[in-house]
Amino acid sequence: MRTRTIRWAALAAAAGLSLAACSGGTDSDPDAGSSVDPGSFPAGSTMARLAEAGEITVGTKFDQPLFGLQGPDGKPVGFDVSIATIIAGELGIAPGDITWIETVSANREPFIQDGRVDIVVATYTINDSRKEVVDFAGPYYEAGQALMVRADDDSITTPEDLSGKKVCSVDGSTPAKNIQDNYPEAELVTFAAYTDCLDPLRNGQVDAVTTDNVILAGYVAESPDDFKVVGEPFTAEPYGIGLAKGDDEFRGWINDVLEAIEADGRWTAAWEDTAGTVLPTPEPPAVDRY
Ligand code: GLU
Repeated sequence: MRTRTIRWAALAAAAGLSLAACSGGTDSDPDAGSSVDPGSFPAGSTMARLAEAGEITVGTKFDQPLFGLQGPDGKPVGFDVSIATIIAGELGIAPGDITWIETVSANREPFIQDGRVDIVVATYTINDSRKEVVDFAGPYYEAGQALMVRADDDSITTPEDLSGKKVCSVDGSTPAKNIQDNYPEAELVTFAAYTDCLDPLRNGQVDAVTTDNVILAGYVAESPDDFKVVGEPFTAEPYGIGLAKGDDEFRGWINDVLEAIEADGRWTAAWEDTAGTVLPTPEPPAVDRY
């Protein structure tokens, strides 16, 4: 055990990461800075700029329980929020110095391109068309598209059953595109955010909601008498951390952080505190240094 601890410490040190960075955890003092020296990052890098500024702007979801849900104090909580908080901590940025901006599915790329956010951590699937305009670190989790229906409806279990039915999803999301491209017999209704689909499903204006299984699991956990997730996931949705296209140094550094927290237990702790309260704890996926 001791050898492993030493190995991880050596690995983290080699990657320029602080193991003491429970500073980056969500349960730390929101105003406490950490002892990261901005001068330890390559001059001119995004890491050096953010560490020097002592603040970071993060795009995340505000209406998705388990991953990014705005709390009564206006701050979001969830697995995505914890991952972003750990990354900020590795830059010496305290949780209280993170500016959270709501990114719905359709504005994630534009917000990165405009520089309105430094990173997006928002149930954000890595794919080739998005990679034309932004880059991704990760993946740090792999979800899959699924279906949610009213709790008393047994007529839909697969996407083929959506033929002639109304299915709700979100503009700019991969599940909406998948329905459009591959299930044209379904009548797709889209809104800006997944919560916009919940009342229409409840009152029968739509027959199903489709997005990633883990997002739907959050809505079912909130309203188990109203909704259920049916069938098996039918796509792979690897979640990445969106950042400016071409910033390979920053992408490589975030990948180092992800590998270190997967090895030292912080990834699992973040999961168990958030999504893991409802979902089983998976093996984290290997990062893809494309
Ligand atoms: N992961 C999918 C996507 O990035 C669906 C979830 C979402 O819209 O945030 O489009």
